[in-house]
Amino acid sequence: MTDCLFCKIIAGDIPSTKVFEDDLIYVFKDINPKASVHILVIPKQHIARLDHANTEHADLLAHMMLSLPNLAKSQGLDDGFRTIINTGPGGGQEVDHLHIHILGGSHMPGFN
Ligand code: AMP
Ligand code: ZN
Repeated sequence: MTDCLFCKIIAGDIPSTKVFEDDLIYVFKDINPKASVHILVIPKQHIARLDHANTEHADLLAHMMLSLPNLAKSQGLDDGFRTIINTGPGGGQEVDHLHIHILGGSHMPGFN
């Protein structure tokens, strides 16, 4: 039994507001949105953080990256969007399952 919050969300053991899923990724709304659109893109395979990924994950990471524009558009972000990957304590990562934040719309926080 995994202790990982996001693995539990993928398994359906913890509820989430799903936006999209396919064989490789699960996409859901952030529970504490920092902008009017704030979704998280996670691999179904548990990878704790970006610096734990290696070349074996290249196809998966490419799939995640290339899915971002369509996922953003599906949320009405036709003008563009922001992506964030926090890595480790130094990057402010709070959940140890790799995730890409997609943010956009109104109430976008400043970057600096
Ligand atoms: P990070 O700081 O990059 O690790 O981001 C973790 C994100 O996960 C934060 O934006 C949280 O609001 C979000 N989060 C934590 N628990 C949940 C949950 N149960 N459902 C959806 N999002 C969550
Ligand atoms: Zn996990």
